[in-house]
Amino acid sequence: MTEAKLTIPKLPVRLFNTESRQKEVFKPLHDNHARIYTCGPTVYHYAHIGNFRTYVFEDLLRRTLKFFGYQVTQVMNITDVDDKTIRGTIEKSSSLNEFTQPYKNAFFVDIQSLGIERAEHYPAATDYIPQMIDFVQKLIDKEFAYKSSDGSVYFSIDKFQRYGRLSRLKLDELVVGARAEVVAHDEYDKENVGDFVLWKAYDAKRDGKVFWESPFGPGRPGWHLECSAMAIALLGETLDIHVGAVDNIFPHHENEIAQSEAFSGKLFVKLWMHSDHLIVNHKKMSKSLGNFFTLRDLLEKGYEGMDVRYMLMHTHYRTQLNFTFAGLDGAKKSLQKLNDFIQRNQEIADSKGTPTETCVAILQKNLDSFAEAMADDLNISAALSHIYDMTHEINALFDGGKMTPGDGAAVVSAMQEFNRVLGVFTFEREDEAPKELQEMLDKRNAARSEKNWALADQMRDEIHKHGYLIEDTAGGTRLKKR
Ligand code: AMP
Ligand code: ZN
Repeated sequence: MTEAKLTIPKLPVRLFNTESRQKEVFKPLHDNHARIYTCGPTVYHYAHIGNFRTYVFEDLLRRTLKFFGYQVTQVMNITDVDDKTIRGTIEKSSSLNEFTQPYKNAFFVDIQSLGIERAEHYPAATDYIPQMIDFVQKLIDKEFAYKSSDGSVYFSIDKFQRYGRLSRLKLDELVVGARAEVVAHDEYDKENVGDFVLWKAYDAKRDGKVFWESPFGPGRPGWHLECSAMAIALLGETLDIHVGAVDNIFPHHENEIAQSEAFSGKLFVKLWMHSDHLIVNHKKMSKSLGNFFTLRDLLEKGYEGMDVRYMLMHTHYRTQLNFTFAGLDGAKKSLQKLNDFIQRNQEIADSKGTPTETCVAILQKNLDSFAEAMADDLNISAALSHIYDMTHEINALFDGGKMTPGDGAAVVSAMQEFNRVLGVFTFEREDEAPKELQEMLDKRNAARSEKNWALADQMRDEIHKHGYLIEDTAGGTRLKKR
């Protein structure tokens, strides 16, 4: 008898920390509980697939940590108040909530299509205004922040000794970036161009009806402050991991560190992770450049959410990924092959059967290598290559007529283990079409035997509409995904 059960190796997970610029063994502050903060969408538009590259990477991170036995609490904020949402509100003459709600809803539909697991918390910035006001007050009390003549409150970077340690930009470089921000946002009354806004004073022309009362006057929180306040409110003063894309490193995350550490006097983040961009012809995919596709655009062209997920996921997160339709077609094809492989095994599988030693050895070896690759800073390309190796070895057993029903079942469970991390495969069997379609097929067959061609055709068309074909086999008819 062969022990069919596959084991997940217990491995230390090494992750690249942007701050130290090296891979570090991940060690949560509390037991095996990973508390992760991820910068989320600004809901003034549909998210594009560049944004989703980052969210898919974060999903891969959370699934990998869970695979290795960690308990994960992930927070992803929803930025529903900033210059862009306010601009949209004014253009549409609606309330902030009326304007942002459809984009929030769309975001949750999209992440579901992409197989992204839901985070434990999705705080909206507008639900945390009192915490943000307290945060600013404490920074004023501790003299890290000052009020300017227009009523805005700024953080004084001179007061925070270790400013710039994440981005490692020199102060004069920071000043160049900051100057652009001054011009863009009319922030001329800062004491130092590098200072950033914590509370933005209300300006009737710019802000319409969007403001909150505060001890510093009417206004609204700055974007950087939103993330710190919500992270600390939901996860505590020191986070295990904070994630975003590389464009968030400066100034967003640098400012988060300064204000959070000034606020708490404690280390804000143990490990910073940043994914590189999805690019198009050497340029970052972005709304402002107009070189973007939303997930909806791609679904309309006939791609499935999982094709897009596989395309976004299959390149290591710290390298740029160039988006092309040829690349997306390639991803779709590779995924189809892996799903066909699952199907091939499902067709012979019987979980009551005992797998052969040869088969189990192939599965365990590749599962071990897959786990090792993922534990090495989510080395997805290596991890996927072990799955491909496994399919080749198993297909060779098929070709040699050596696969048993127990083997088929063991292969399916190995693919399910991989899928706990990847979240991309389909395990639906073709002969397990939804029950209502099965009933339509029965109706259609009955109608045909009664020569009721109109009803038979109507049922066939309904089945087609649901994405299935009717296939005639020696054993009768069955449904097959189109
Ligand atoms: P935004 O909605 O613009 O605040 O962006 C949400 C998240 O998507 C942020 O973490 C951005 O850094 C990230 N992001 C924006 N564009 C890209 C891109 N082309 N590739 C990867 N991540 C991106
Ligand atoms: Zn953020």
